[in-house]
Amino acid sequence: MQATFEIRNELYADVVVCGGGVAGISAAVSAAKSGAVTLLIESGGYLGGTATKGMVGPFMTCLDAKGENQIIRGFFSEFVNRMIADGGAVSYNDCPGGDSWSGYRLAGHIGVTPFDTECLKRTADRLCVESGVNLLCHTTLIGCETDGRRITAIYTADGEGIDKIRAKVFIDCTGNASLAAKAGAATFRGDGDGFMQTASMFFIIDGVDRDALDAHMAEHTEMRERFYMDAIEAGRADGRFPCGTMKLRIYENPNGTWTVNMAQSDDPLNELSAADITTVEIAQREQIQKLIAFLREEIPPLRNIRLVATASDMGIRESRRIVGRHLFCLEDITSAVKFDDRIAVCANSIDIHQKVGVAYTAYKSGSNYYIPLSCLIPKDMDNLLAAGKCLSADKYAFAAVRVMPPCFAMGEAVGITAAMAAAKGVNVPDVPVCSVQEEIVRRGGYIG
Ligand SMILES: Cc1cc2nc3c(=O)[nH]c(=O)nc-3n(C[C@H](O)[C@H](O)[C@H](O)COP(=O)(O)OP(=O)(O)OC[C@H]3O[C@@H](n4cnc5c(N)ncnc54)[C@H](O)[C@@H]3O)c2cc1C
Repeated sequence: MQATFEIRNELYADVVVCGGGVAGISAAVSAAKSGAVTLLIESGGYLGGTATKGMVGPFMTCLDAKGENQIIRGFFSEFVNRMIADGGAVSYNDCPGGDSWSGYRLAGHIGVTPFDTECLKRTADRLCVESGVNLLCHTTLIGCETDGRRITAIYTADGEGIDKIRAKVFIDCTGNASLAAKAGAATFRGDGDGFMQTASMFFIIDGVDRDALDAHMAEHTEMRERFYMDAIEAGRADGRFPCGTMKLRIYENPNGTWTVNMAQSDDPLNELSAADITTVEIAQREQIQKLIAFLREEIPPLRNIRLVATASDMGIRESRRIVGRHLFCLEDITSAVKFDDRIAVCANSIDIHQKVGVAYTAYKSGSNYYIPLSCLIPKDMDNLLAAGKCLSADKYAFAAVRVMPPCFAMGEAVGITAAMAAAKGVNVPDVPVCSVQEEIVRRGGYIG
């Protein structure tokens, strides 16, 4: 017997964005602002992706490599300013590094933006509604129809049935290149050597004695003492500390709670497999119980902490990506290649979370670098773009731009490009890059 299904509705849009993380929000609002009839589908119940379901934060830096000038602007600034006005974020101006907003990190965390996940959810809702984005949450991309190098329609499912959605241009912001893979476009996972960054379940606590923690940090500038690394190492040796994390990693949130980035999967997992993720998430929720007990016992300012919530989705740092017209790579960053088709300037360090015994490596970039549009266009499709974690990049370049401010910037660029392709009735690669760049700059973005 063959499985069959009926199509409930046939829908149409100029631009369809799959995935409502920060890249997808940015892409959809940017396309809609250009006048494109835009549909954003998201499998979760609200927008934000890793930022909300994964409870990840703060936004990493939007400043240049010297930590002086803001270089990620445009839609990112609009979004952050709306959250600040709503009382749900702290400006990068007020985050000089070394303090509770930046996890007391003395390097690499200048100019972060702490935010409340609830504020992010409603800010995304409001910007979608105001710009005219048609938003369908609880809607999962399940299939795709193609004709040569073009996607003609996608299939989506909710509890009631299956819809077919046609569009002129599609954007993959699923965080795992789901749409590109379903369309038969070339994709890859890992970096040839199968390497993937570790995944972490974030959790929120309250009850931190901030004055005591501030005092501890003021007293200790040396890493091992500052971040209780000896206690953690000893705890790991005697089995009370449950994973490979090496130091205290907690960040204050604007609502008075604290985000903890300490649980993690030390072993490789298949992040595309529900069975694998379920198993690892069960293990991480147990890990978190042990972590809470350990933190209460060993870190005096955390003696009275309580668990407020664990993330509904474990944070997946790295997954499947497109094979683009350009593979953004380490050399592009270290040589600061100034691409003719650049759509953003960034300076976040190359931040690779990996297990090497129990050590993790962070490579520093040291100067600003440029993201080209060509790493957001699949090499084998004419009406598909990708942004955020789906971009075409090697493990180093990926590790630099996977953080949220660059994801916003990539989303804005592909939203503008998609709307132009749809309006002119041309293939994505035929949209003049200079028009995209002009529009990015007109909207307050910066491309150097
Ligand atoms: C553990 C961890 C810690 C991090 N720490 C920081 C940090 O401190 N600061 C920082 O700036 N960045 C941090 N990052 C990086 C950053 O959070 C992410 O890389 C970024 O949010 C990715 O955004 P995105 O929109 O590309 O993808 P995602 O946030 O993954 O969004 C993809 C969306 O697509 C949806 N989706 C997927 N498949 C489908 C489908 N088939 N149908 C419909 N919808 C679908 C998902 O539900 C999701 O909402 C961290 C990441 C992790 C995992």
